Amino acid sequence: MRICTTIAAMFAIMALFFGCERRTEERQLKNFISAHVGKVKPVAKQARLAYWQAANSGDAADYDQSSRLELQIRQIYTDSQEFAFLKGLKQSSRIKDAELARQLDVLYNAYLANQIDPLLLKEIVELGTEIEKNFSTFRGTIEGKKVTVNEIKEILKTETDSVKRKQAWVASKQVGAVAADDLIELVKLRNRSARQVGFENFHTLSLTLSELDIDELDRIFNELYELTNEPFRKLKSELDAILADKYGVEVNQLMPWHYHDPFFQETPLVYELNLDTYYEDEDVRELAIKFYDGIALGVDSIIANSDLYEREGKNPHAFCTDIDKEGDVRILCNLKNNENWMETMLHELGHGVYDKYHDINVPYLLREPAHIFTTEAIAMLFGRLSRNGAWMQQMLKLSDEQRLEIDKVSSRYAQLKQLIFVRWAMVMYNFEKQLYANPEQDLNSLWWRMVSKYQFVNKPPGRDEPDWAGKIHFTIAPCYYHNYVLGELLASQLHYYIVFNVLELQSDKDVSYVGHSKAGDFLRRKIFEPGSLYRWDDIIEQATGQPLTPKYFVDEFVK
Ligand SMILES: [Zn+2]
Repeated sequence: MRICTTIAAMFAIMALFFGCERRTEERQLKNFISAHVGKVKPVAKQARLAYWQAANSGDAADYDQSSRLELQIRQIYTDSQEFAFLKGLKQSSRIKDAELARQLDVLYNAYLANQIDPLLLKEIVELGTEIEKNFSTFRGTIEGKKVTVNEIKEILKTETDSVKRKQAWVASKQVGAVAADDLIELVKLRNRSARQVGFENFHTLSLTLSELDIDELDRIFNELYELTNEPFRKLKSELDAILADKYGVEVNQLMPWHYHDPFFQETPLVYELNLDTYYEDEDVRELAIKFYDGIALGVDSIIANSDLYEREGKNPHAFCTDIDKEGDVRILCNLKNNENWMETMLHELGHGVYDKYHDINVPYLLREPAHIFTTEAIAMLFGRLSRNGAWMQQMLKLSDEQRLEIDKVSSRYAQLKQLIFVRWAMVMYNFEKQLYANPEQDLNSLWWRMVSKYQFVNKPPGRDEPDWAGKIHFTIAPCYYHNYVLGELLASQLHYYIVFNVLELQSDKDVSYVGHSKAGDFLRRKIFEPGSLYRWDDIIEQATGQPLTPKYFVDEFVK
C-alpha cells in the first residue's frame, strides 16, 4: 500500500515535471512564433505589394524591388540556429497543443527548404536562370530558317502536309538538345542540395516539403491510370481516325507531329469549342460579381482592389494575391468579353474567395490555403462554369435551343480536354520521378516509353533525342505538375459532394450553382475558414467524408 502510494506520488511528480517541461517548450515555441511573425509579416506584405506594383507597371526597378524583398524573406528562413531550435522541438514530441504543433510543422518545412549551402543554392539559381534565358532566346529552324514558338504552334494547328508538320515538330524539339546537358546538371545539383538536408533526391524532398506522400501520390496516379486507360484508348482511336483522314495517312502511321501541339497536351483543333459569341455582348466582370454574390461569397472588396483591364506594360496574364492575410485580396486580369476571360475571371476569383474568407482568428502562419492544389481546385471548380450549359443559360439568359447547342458539344469537349490533359500529366509525373531517381539513365528512351505508355503516341522510328528537355517546367517549376491533376480531382470530388450532400439534388446534370448560397456556405465553413489549420488530407476528409480519390473525376469526365 505504502509502496503503491509512493510510486503513485512519483508518477504524479514525474507527470508534473514533464507537464511543466512541455509547457515550457510550448511557451518557447509561442515566443518564437510571435517574434517570427513580427519579422515576416511586414516584409511579406511589402513584397506582395511590390510584386503587385511591378506586375502593373512592368518597370524593371519595380521588379528589382520585388526580388529584393523576396530575398529578404528567404534569408529569415536560412538561419541555422533557429532551424536547430525548431528541429529540437519537433524531435522532442513535446508540443501537444494541436495549433502550435501545426505551426511548428509549417515553420519546420519552411526552414528546412532553406538550409542548403548558400554557394550550392547560388549555383542552382544561376544555372536555372541560364537555362531559362536559353529557352527564351532560342529559335528552332525549318529548312535553315528561324521560327518562333508561335509560328510552330500555328503550323501544327493548320498545316495539312505531313512533311511540313514534321519539320515544325522537329523544330519545336531543337531547344531540348540545347538545354539537355544543363538540365541534367541542374537535376544533379538539386539532388545534391536534397542530400544535404537528408533526402535521397530532390523529388522526394519537394514532395515531403509540400506535405505529399510519394506512395499516396503513386496510388492516386495509378488508380487514375487504370480508370482512364480504356476510355482514353477509345477516345484516342476516334481522334486518330479523324486525324489520319485529315492528313491522308494510315492510323498506325500517325506520328507525334500529327497532334496539334508539340506534346499532345491540348485538345486538337478538330474538336474546338468556340463559345465566344455568347459572351461578346456581355460584361464578364459583372457576370462574375453577380454569380459570387449569389452563392454568398461576395467579391466586392476584391474587385475594389483589383486591376482588371489591359494596359501598356502590364503583365498580360492573370493571378490572384493575398496582400496581407487580413482581407486585402486582389486579382490581376486583362479582361475581354470572351469565354476564355470568363473562365479566367471565375478561376482567379475562386482563389480570391478562398483567401478572403479565411477565419481571421486562425494564426497568421496558418491563414492560407491548406495546399497549393486545394486553392487550384476551388479555382477550377468555378472556372469550369464558363462552359457549363446550365450556368450559361441562367447567367446569360439563353433560350432552350441555345442551351441545347452548347450541351451538344460542351460535355464531349470537357471530357476530351480533361482526359488528354491527365494522360499527359502522367507522363510528366512519372518521368520526373525517375529523372531525379537516376539522372544518369537513358532519359531519351525513358521519355518515349512514358509517352507510349500514357499517351499512346508512337515514337518516330530511330529517334534518339532529348525531346523531354524541351519542356520548360522541368527547369522553372520542378516537381510541381501533379498539383494540376490533384486540383482537378478535388474539384470533381467537391462538386459531387456539394451536389448530392449539400444541395441534396438527385443528379448533377443541370447544376449551375447559380443562386445556391448553401454551396458557398459549405465551402466557406469547411475549406476557406480553417485555412491550413489542418493538413490538406484532413481538410478534404473533414469536408467530404473521404480521402482524396480520382473516383469523382472519373464519374464526371470519363463516361
Ligand atoms: Zn489558379
